[in-house]
Amino acid sequence: MCIKKHTTRRMIFLLCLRRGFCYPLRMSQDIKLYNSLTRQKEVFEPIDAAHIRVYACGPTVYNYAHIGNARMAVIFDLWVRVLRHAYPKVTYVTNITDIEDKIIDAAKAEGKPIAEITQKYTNIYNQDMASLNVLPPDIQPLATGHIPEMIALIEALINDDKAYENDGHVLFNVPAYANYGALSGRSRDEQIAGARVEVAPYKKDPADFVLWKPSTPDQPGWDSPWGRGRPGWHIECSAMAEKHLKLPFDIHGGGADLKFPHHENEIAQSCAAHNTAPEKFAKYWVHNGFVMVEGQKMSKSLSNVKLVHDMVHEAHPEIIRLTLLSSHYRQPLDYTENSLEQNKKLLDKIYKHLLEYPAIQTDQDNIPTEVLDALYDDLNTPALIAILNQILKNQDDPQKLSNTLKRIGNIIGLFQEEPQEWFKNDHDLADIDKDYVDNLLIERTKARAEKNFKRADMIRDELAVMGIEIEDTPDGPKWKKV
Ligand SMILES: [Zn+2]
Repeated sequence: MCIKKHTTRRMIFLLCLRRGFCYPLRMSQDIKLYNSLTRQKEVFEPIDAAHIRVYACGPTVYNYAHIGNARMAVIFDLWVRVLRHAYPKVTYVTNITDIEDKIIDAAKAEGKPIAEITQKYTNIYNQDMASLNVLPPDIQPLATGHIPEMIALIEALINDDKAYENDGHVLFNVPAYANYGALSGRSRDEQIAGARVEVAPYKKDPADFVLWKPSTPDQPGWDSPWGRGRPGWHIECSAMAEKHLKLPFDIHGGGADLKFPHHENEIAQSCAAHNTAPEKFAKYWVHNGFVMVEGQKMSKSLSNVKLVHDMVHEAHPEIIRLTLLSSHYRQPLDYTENSLEQNKKLLDKIYKHLLEYPAIQTDQDNIPTEVLDALYDDLNTPALIAILNQILKNQDDPQKLSNTLKRIGNIIGLFQEEPQEWFKNDHDLADIDKDYVDNLLIERTKARAEKNFKRADMIRDELAVMGIEIEDTPDGPKWKKV
């Protein structure tokens, strides 16, 4: 262990003692994460171990949330849960982009005021994510609530010759910022091509991007030193992250498709305004991979865009959450019927166990080390799922297993249903697991012989929840599906 790390841990230990926290055993393990900025997996060394600060780019609210939005929200929810397990305080900020040209178009198309559209889809987004056990962020700032902060940032850039006004627009001058491309690794030619630049006479350089643009009288706008207008998308996150987390903060996250140009531009704006190096905006950059549906890229033209709103009627939200976590977060995820089936089977096994042996929360039941090892290793959820399958096979102490499962579930945002509820509408279960039912009946007969009527009744109740009725006959108990 290096001296610096040792010193950090000692500081956390002293801090926890002073604040009355127990020193968490879990700090004996390092959290590792892949940092897109340095392009390598690194040990997480917080800027301030007493307060971890995380920002992730949230949705633009003009339509229902799709599975790509859901994957991002679930991944960063899990990151925050894991960080909260390891550190005493975590602040998680994820924004709502409520001013954007797509929103203006959607409002026109629906013939409704913009505020009505953004409020409606913000509510739907939050409800959809809550159904997937995504905890609400600590702060969910609205872009329209931070116009003065954006104007101040743009003014600082203009004063330092990093941005310029032209024809009612304010643009960031990319050649004026030497570290442009640090995150994406894109060459100058790729930057220009990747920025999908339109031919715009007001740009000094083809890679320059908009910080502020003019609004026509029928478009939403705010007064500014450059006339009535509205912000570009990138400046929103620079302003909101700085206001709510201060710079530098620990982790900036988002989907991999945001790396360029959005995140590259966030770094350019914030670091040029403060004249600092790229890592002085956010220390670690974490990106999740994209989602495919049945092996195909999701697109409107293929009519395979999966909306969370519909998905939760096709499968239990915990099955969806587990499926979203079943691939490593940096890899592409293929969302298929088959993967939903596989994940349902695992959850069925876990809920069957929890039904039979209701979890009792005690301080003695620690999270198994291998579970934390997997989560702390750059959120290795495929390894975690393999471990869950493994520990389910070890039934030496079934009560302890239930307690452990529940503790794991509390971290990863799963197994939160009442077991009876889980099986309520799932009477097919008996068809696929007759051996399980037969074994339960044998156990019930044994329990009755030993006058352990409590256990015998528990088994009868469990089978009843599964839609199975027992009939005691002179030849022994018989069962049938009702
Ligand atoms: Zn953003």
